Amino acid sequence: MIRFEQVSKVYSGGFQALQKVSFNLGKGEMAYLTGHSGAGKSTLLKLISVMERPTDGQVFFNGQDVSRIRRGHIPYVRRRIGMIFQDHHLINGRTVFDNVALPLVIEGYNHNDIRRRVSAALDKVGLLGKDRYFPLMLSGGEQQRVGIARAIVNKPSLLLADEPTGNLDPALSMEILRLFEAFNSVGVSVLIATHDTGLINAQRHRTLTLSAGRLVAEAEL
Ligand code: ADP
Ligand code: ADP
Repeated sequence: MIRFEQVSKVYSGGFQALQKVSFNLGKGEMAYLTGHSGAGKSTLLKLISVMERPTDGQVFFNGQDVSRIRRGHIPYVRRRIGMIFQDHHLINGRTVFDNVALPLVIEGYNHNDIRRRVSAALDKVGLLGKDRYFPLMLSGGEQQRVGIARAIVNKPSLLLADEPTGNLDPALSMEILRLFEAFNSVGVSVLIATHDTGLINAQRHRTLTLSAGRLVAEAEL
């Protein structure tokens, strides 16, 4: 599903964020991406979603080298990826329903399909009754679940999460992780960037560790 071949990223200021990173994430696999702040986790995720381009090496998504695709093709890659952020990037002036519907509206789905899919997505994250709420009326854990509903509403084959539990206490973090595991159990590949060692230790999964831009050899768990 994802394959990095000797990927390096040097930002325009000259900072080397990733150095010769190579790994595979198989279809239906779930893994943590960990490492200290500044280790390059976000950069690695951004190379997959083509928000950044590598300086060297290749990034394959579903067999396609996305590191050099034309700008116009980026949306086709992104619509197959669900992205979840620490601060969930919800639009506070829009309802939960509208926030979750946004990717479908952009893709031009019709009204009925949007209603059906948004309801299904909200159901999966346990927020079916909250569709008319505004984000700020919800708890932090609920807001994150809205972000997850929006990420999965168009049924992506890959979920990328960047510190999804960064603002949540351990119990809520575990709830969020369970949601990722549920999506993974139906075949969705999941890559979670996190430095939440409590979470990683509580629930073991394959762990990719970055240290100053380099991938540390993987320990067998
Ligand atoms: P992490 O997610 O592990 O905290 P990042 O990938 O965000 O790490 O950042 C890795 C390094 O790259 C950091 O030192 C950061 O300052 C630097 N960096 C990130 N984005 C940029 C950018 N757009 N321009 C220059 N440097 C950047
Ligand atoms: P209209 O009457 O203009 O067609 P709707 O009644 O379809 O508008 O939707 C108005 C709002 O009600 C939507 O933006 C959404 O927030 C909410 N809503 C409508 N239908 C559903 C549904 N099936 N599930 C969840 N929320 C819904």
